[in-house]
Amino acid sequence: MSDLSDLYQQVILDHNRRPRNRGKLPKATRVAHGDNPSCGDQCSVYLNLDGDKISEITFDGTGCAISQASASLMTTQLKGKTATEAETLFNEFHEIVTSGKEPEDISDVAAFAGVHAFPARIKCATLGWHAALNALKGEDVPATTETHND
Ligand code: ZN
Repeated sequence: MSDLSDLYQQVILDHNRRPRNRGKLPKATRVAHGDNPSCGDQCSVYLNLDGDKISEITFDGTGCAISQASASLMTTQLKGKTATEAETLFNEFHEIVTSGKEPEDISDVAAFAGVHAFPARIKCATLGWHAALNALKGEDVPATTETHND
């Protein structure tokens, strides 16, 4: 198992060093902010919907490697998904980080199974996901302060 543990470590380090979809999305219609004061992690999620699917999703934030790597991974998982699918994926991810039970498919998500041994870090690993789900549930961000009908 140590080889797999090394692999998972690499996945987290890689997402932390080269985060995917990082930065503000200028025309985002949904934005939510997540805050994990126990670790000092911050994460904002920006997204656009095309019908009921997430067409664009980015994150921006600061904090520990787990929180930033998890947010990066989250954006790659949720792009193209509906809110319902996103919730299912989050439930699976939450199960992995709280139980340590690895999914049958070896994937980047499995890298986070090791988090379950460090309960304080579970909030780090789920911060970006919570922000994304809040953004999906939230109201559209008005593009301007003026009234418009679209
Ligand atoms: Zn953290």
